[in-house]
Amino acid sequence: MTIDLANKIQEILPEVSKPTRYMGNELNMIKKDLNLVKVKFALAFPDVYEVAMSHLGIKILYHLLNEREDVAAERVYAPWVDMEKKMRENDIPLFTLENRAKVADFDMLGFTLQYEMSYTNILNMLDLAGIPLRSEDRGKEFPLVIVGGPCAFNPEPLAPFVDVVLLGEAEAAIGEVVDEYLAWKDSGASKEELLKNLSKIEGIYVPSFYEIDYNDDGEVVRFEASNGAPEILKKRVIQNLDESYYPEKFILPYMGIVHDRVTLEVARGCTRGCRFCQAGMIYRPVRERSHERIKDLARKLIESTGYEEISLSSLSTSDYSRIEDLAKELLEEYKNQRVSVALPSMRVDSFSVDLAKELQAVRKTGLTFAPEAGTQRLRDVINKGIDEEDLLKTTEAAFKEGWRRVKLYFMMGLPTETLEDIRGIADLAKKVAELGDEIRRNSDNKRRVKVGVSVSTFVPKTHTPFQWSKFNTLEEIKEKQQLLRNELRGKDLSFTWTDPYLSTMEAVFARGDRRVAEVMERAWEIGAKFDGWSEHFDYQRWQKAFEDLGYNLEEYVYRNFNLEGRLPWDHLEVGVDKRYLRKEYQKAIDVELTPDCRFNNCTGCGILKNLDARISLMGGENSGK
Ligand code: SF4
Repeated sequence: MTIDLANKIQEILPEVSKPTRYMGNELNMIKKDLNLVKVKFALAFPDVYEVAMSHLGIKILYHLLNEREDVAAERVYAPWVDMEKKMRENDIPLFTLENRAKVADFDMLGFTLQYEMSYTNILNMLDLAGIPLRSEDRGKEFPLVIVGGPCAFNPEPLAPFVDVVLLGEAEAAIGEVVDEYLAWKDSGASKEELLKNLSKIEGIYVPSFYEIDYNDDGEVVRFEASNGAPEILKKRVIQNLDESYYPEKFILPYMGIVHDRVTLEVARGCTRGCRFCQAGMIYRPVRERSHERIKDLARKLIESTGYEEISLSSLSTSDYSRIEDLAKELLEEYKNQRVSVALPSMRVDSFSVDLAKELQAVRKTGLTFAPEAGTQRLRDVINKGIDEEDLLKTTEAAFKEGWRRVKLYFMMGLPTETLEDIRGIADLAKKVAELGDEIRRNSDNKRRVKVGVSVSTFVPKTHTPFQWSKFNTLEEIKEKQQLLRNELRGKDLSFTWTDPYLSTMEAVFARGDRRVAEVMERAWEIGAKFDGWSEHFDYQRWQKAFEDLGYNLEEYVYRNFNLEGRLPWDHLEVGVDKRYLRKEYQKAIDVELTPDCRFNNCTGCGILKNLDARISLMGGENSGK
């Protein structure tokens, strides 16, 4: 930290909104002397503090890296627009929260990619740091730019801007990356040498070592790896969640953040096999943490943070083996401290009203379920595997127990969808509302029932059975949204939806190739940033960026990829066979279900063979299969 920079930052803080976003010094923050470490690692999140601070992956990496004496990991988040303006006016470069040090002076700069619409913030943050946007323009005097996270499974739209992509679970590989960096730093070799060495680590993808050409259908027609880089890049996984690193402290923010509680990850992976769901494919295999380890972590985290809520998190927490036992044991342990336990991701078919009742004994909230589609046919197409009866039975039991608020999540724009399926959303929501109202009228609790219907637009994601499917046109989405607006009137019902223009851009980047990188850069040049925030998103700006470069936006989103062609992300392997995805796609068209392999036979997705991995369930079926 230079005194001058620290003073300049201090001077502008009273002039910006929410200055606590930039102050640092929170409880449990780790601040090291940057002159005493060998590697300075800036952990970046391309969104504002409140969002970034809620992200579990960053918490894990922050503490994991800082466990090493030779490394200092510091946080840097996207400054909100007012702060950015002040920083630019006052010549203040992007800085870290811990030491208020210039990000450009760090050795490594790692971004987590959680959402496609935050990509322009990455460009903006690089620029604000005074770091050239393109990897080819960055010499060894600049930080090595590394990205990871779920969107890194198709990092092609960011390919020219990043040096290195870490595929899969960062805890499994980040130590090796840092070691390789250290060895290189001491050797004084070129950046190219560093990249070559890093590319030998499993799960490390160096985009500049690959030349890729596409045809008009978006398929790859030429793919050449250079510098000895592998043709296929396999993701990294943690084999044993119990033995993997988990922080015992969380940084405690001074301001409200999106998830302000102890988040305890109980499991990774989900094999329910919903065909639209990228998380369900990229985080396989299923691995659970043991009760003992979870309870030990809960104790340490409650003690180090003073939080009063533990959230048991995973993709589908109600599927965790012996979830009821675990939740009850935790409730019992903390009942005198008024610490509540929350299960944020519950499936309607494995949800227990009794358990919910116990969990909500401390604090009452509404219940949320995700039927995802309005008709049984479409739920079978997407392999959601739940039926109307499940939903009605569960909500009936919940209404009888006194719940009055239910939120239902759906998607529109799914493959094979018709207006009948959209009407089905409204019909199902009305049935739930009517059921609730009937129970209310016959009970002492006369509080009105509220059924919130939230319908997002399906965006086809890579590495899923629907990766070949096109995105709905704006006209189709608008027609479907209008139909639901008309249908979902009434005092017990509310309807929220996503901006179709925003979803269109998400669809561009979700399945985008290297060519859209230029569009992104152009859009950023003409002002795009914080695109995920409605007040900043401007579709016309994106249209202009496409036009300026002579690319056709529609070709990117309204394209059904050829099932047999080579896809722009096929060289990045999540462990699930492409053959399996094709089979699942065909089963969707044929309206055939595939069961969850946790409770049935292996469905042949290939993950265990391809990654030499094991499913590990804590007392459930097929343990250790
Ligand atoms: S249950 Fe379905 S939607 Fe949920 S994580 Fe698993 S595969 Fe994805």
